[in-house]
Amino acid sequence: MTDRIRRFLADKQPETPCLVVDLDVVEFNYRRMRELLPQAKIFYAMKANPANEVLARLGKLGSNFDTASRGEIELCFAQGVGAERISFGNTIKKEKDIAWAHQNGVRLYAFDSEAELQKLARSAPGARVFCRVLVDCDGAEWPLSKKFGCAPDMARDLLKRANDMGLEAYGVSFHVGSQQTDLDQWDRALAQVSQMFYALAETGIDLKMVNLGGGFPARYRKDVAPVEAYCEAVQRALVRHFGNRMPEVIIEPGRSMVGDAGVLQSEVVLISRKSANDRKRWVYLDVGKFGGLAETMDESIKYRITTPYPAGGRSGPVVLAGPTCDSADILYEKTEYKMPLALKVGDKVEILSTGAYTTTYASVAFNGFAPLKTYCI
Ligand SMILES: *Cc1c(COP(=O)(O)O)cnc(C)c1O
Repeated sequence: MTDRIRRFLADKQPETPCLVVDLDVVEFNYRRMRELLPQAKIFYAMKANPANEVLARLGKLGSNFDTASRGEIELCFAQGVGAERISFGNTIKKEKDIAWAHQNGVRLYAFDSEAELQKLARSAPGARVFCRVLVDCDGAEWPLSKKFGCAPDMARDLLKRANDMGLEAYGVSFHVGSQQTDLDQWDRALAQVSQMFYALAETGIDLKMVNLGGGFPARYRKDVAPVEAYCEAVQRALVRHFGNRMPEVIIEPGRSMVGDAGVLQSEVVLISRKSANDRKRWVYLDVGKFGGLAETMDESIKYRITTPYPAGGRSGPVVLAGPTCDSADILYEKTEYKMPLALKVGDKVEILSTGAYTTTYASVAFNGFAPLKTYCI
């Protein structure tokens, strides 16, 4: 937690639950990525945290934006980000939204199927299109496997046809899975992608761009390599597979831009046991799966949690759960979490590195609980 966030929470005593985002950390993360991968254009994957203040800060720094819907594109426009800095990166788009984006100047679109390519040809003639390929997301704590991308053979055929359909076959994208912990995954993916570049070049189609997606980490319970090591691995893989025929490179970090910039403060609502000799206490917080912590699904993302009590004091195992009347609203049951024995109802706890995939993953008002509030400072 940064001093600025600590001070904000102490001075303002905001109602919980709430997320506090330190925009200086977002800026720091952006600048560091620019420095470590200078030839890559950053398209911030805004679904990770689309708060106006976050978009404004990144927009001012010159970032580009990866968007998934008309709504997200409109949020960018509202912050003065021009269409030339926007990629419509969702492979699943309504044709009327493609037409709207095209009319509003968006030039860059993703696809991974023939039907989507046909929509683009009809409603965004002349646009630059890139094909997303399937990669296995081994090593990712939040895999995006299977749903997105097509097999490399199909990608090659579709890119070949894109030019004939009046589009510009511009490049290839992939995503190694979010919170990727295996640094070799980019090398594997780029080996495949560079083969496609060479195969298509032989048929007279010169792709210009490779889009490396996201996958860069935030700091949860498990240690991860520093961003420097990630960027070095990516850089090495690019040089190994493209050498001096380096295409334009795009990266789409979401989690690594905003994750560590946010702290979610929550209050302990109830502590109980299920029987007199229950070994584990149940600790119910005022935030849960429906209030912004959706990524605890299958206990995938394991957040660090701090309490007001000094580390190293007496503690015991807990089941952590949210406040709603749905039994799926349990955060951690199988994963071992320990909390101080002194913990009591009304205590505030802080859930760290919650700047990504929280606020917009909250339900509208399930059980009457308001969506998670954000303070950007
Ligand atoms: C979600 C998403 C990202 C961001 O991934 P992170 O792992 O959060 O960095 C990037 N690109 C696309 C296409 C996405 O859908």
